[in-house]
Amino acid sequence: TQSKRALDAQRNVMEFLLVNHPLDCPICDQGGECELQDVSMGYGRSVSRYVDRKRVVPDEDMGPLVATDMTRCIQCTRCVRFSAEIAGTYELGGIYRGENLQIGTFDGKPLMSEISGNVIDVCPVGALTNKVFRYKARAWELVAKESVAYHDALGSNLFLHTRRGEVLRAVPRDNEAVNECWLSDRDRYSHEGLYGEDRLSKPMVKENGIWREAAWDEALAAAADALQSVPAGQAGILAHPAASNEEGAMLALLAKGLGIGNLDHRIKQRDFADAAVAEAFGLPVADIAKAKRIVLVGCNVRHEMPLLHQRIHQAVKRGAQVHVVNPVDFDFTFTPASKAIVPPSKLAEALTALGAGLDADGATVLVLGEIAENQADASHIRAAAKALQAAGKAVLCRLPQGANAIGLARQGVLPGGQGKDAFAMLDGSLKALLLFGIEPQFDFADNARAAKALLGAKAVVCTAFTSEALCELADVLLPIAALPEIQATLTNVNGIEQRSEAAGKAPGSAQSGWRVLRALYEHCALPALAFTDIDGLRAAAAPNAAVSGSGLSSPAARGEGFERVATSPIYRIDAVTRRAPALQAHPLNADARIVMHPEDAAKAGLAEGQMARVGDGTGTAVLPVALSSALAPSCVWIETNHPATAPLSQTAALAIVRAAP
Ligand code: SF4
Ligand code: SF4
Repeated sequence: TQSKRALDAQRNVMEFLLVNHPLDCPICDQGGECELQDVSMGYGRSVSRYVDRKRVVPDEDMGPLVATDMTRCIQCTRCVRFSAEIAGTYELGGIYRGENLQIGTFDGKPLMSEISGNVIDVCPVGALTNKVFRYKARAWELVAKESVAYHDALGSNLFLHTRRGEVLRAVPRDNEAVNECWLSDRDRYSHEGLYGEDRLSKPMVKENGIWREAAWDEALAAAADALQSVPAGQAGILAHPAASNEEGAMLALLAKGLGIGNLDHRIKQRDFADAAVAEAFGLPVADIAKAKRIVLVGCNVRHEMPLLHQRIHQAVKRGAQVHVVNPVDFDFTFTPASKAIVPPSKLAEALTALGAGLDADGATVLVLGEIAENQADASHIRAAAKALQAAGKAVLCRLPQGANAIGLARQGVLPGGQGKDAFAMLDGSLKALLLFGIEPQFDFADNARAAKALLGAKAVVCTAFTSEALCELADVLLPIAALPEIQATLTNVNGIEQRSEAAGKAPGSAQSGWRVLRALYEHCALPALAFTDIDGLRAAAAPNAAVSGSGLSSPAARGEGFERVATSPIYRIDAVTRRAPALQAHPLNADARIVMHPEDAAKAGLAEGQMARVGDGTGTAVLPVALSSALAPSCVWIETNHPATAPLSQTAALAIVRAAP
């Protein structure tokens, strides 16, 4: 808040100065949006007094997200202050002096911050603009719709700007309790992915191995038939954890109607011994910026939830100490007070050791991230974290594994009765599966295992996108609209339901997920539902706070090999981001590789850049080796969600790496 107040004060001074700014506004592509133009029109003269030639400044290439037109720069340095004070990356600065002063990245490199797009909003003129939106439309052609970000569970508030049903850009919507006035690049630029070439616009059915388009009725009948042709115990329903509350409520109704207990959304989770479900943070996310002590466990918070990392950065600026227990010394914009870089299997132990030294003053915020939550022995890490919470030493903030994991847990998208969890459902015993919003080649904890289970079953997939891999595994494809195209609510880390309006138009005959599920429900000839609209569905839904249990998994037998650290890449987190060209072109979107500690690589006879074959007993992949001493010894760090790493199981704890022949 202090920084924003300072920025506002600076803006006022700037506006005062600009009244007489030598401006001769030619109305560039900022047309209708430039504050400076407004000031000039409101207070300035209608004719510029400036008669000299204007200076021209060469443009910078700041990467695929931010375009520059540096001749317009008035050197207010707001972008410089943003990069230093908010992003914490110090990427922008003034080079040269006096009348030659130019704003740019110090060494001409692209902006690397995960929240770099905010410089567009802080730039008062059109010097820094949205590269993706540039030249696409004028401000007055756009309709703004209130929406919510759906790539992490923070649920940043935003406006989607659309023209005739096409989402052209996203800008932040102020909400101090959630995203303040910022937006992560993932949330700002992902809308491009909605228009990926393989967007599904019509229902499809597979007949004798050949795909053909079908009418909705026919496809729904085929889907209903697939789900009802096997005993309920042999059917299962799996949902992507970013599905909305309404979709979750309808999935729960469908499962109940069909008597299916195999229902789940925890598709990346591996350890279910404690029946863990996503829970709201132990304190409002905004208060993390005021925390005295923060402990990050198995968490690359900068990539998992960029604006939470920003809050932690603010806390550190206020004097907070951050302690890190991670298998990789991840790159944060603050310097941790202590680091325990240990293999994933030692996270619980290292957390307990760190906790022994903590005061029981409840002033520690304990954040569990993706690596902790999705580990093969995650129940032990959660138990260690809960022990600290019970001792009054820490407030627990478990990062939900999916944008609406809390909402779906509350809507009851969880196993019922003797139902199997998401991992057990893919053991090959189920003969009919309904997938909702999932790309089975990327989104599961073990994609190879999922593919096998799907091949052996009738698979109905409600999806916004097709792909070769999906077409191989599925039998019926039902096109659904993506979140920016539907009315929906998502539940964020504060446990608050946030509403999102339909902004874009879904392609072809694609429908809201809940409508598709309701139609499927009807085709299953189940007892009639009383509601026909979304308000009726909301009233009929009965969300309950789902609570995790407390069991512990038995320790896995240790064999020979490296422990795998598996993380989801920031710009390949879901089907939409994977199809957003600008995010794909960003340098943070690294290619698949095996990151090894230099000592381990030397022992295995591997060098930087060399191709290596990695096998984990389930699948193998050939990937280039990258060396990093940031990694705990005897580990390999291999990101998930890449086609090249998909054959590897994230469930196998150990991987053998050898030089590729
Ligand atoms: Fe006019 Fe603003 Fe464009 Fe400058 S940046 S030319 S003031 S619209
Ligand atoms: Fe100010 Fe924009 Fe220039 Fe940065 S690029 S100094 S924000 S005018």
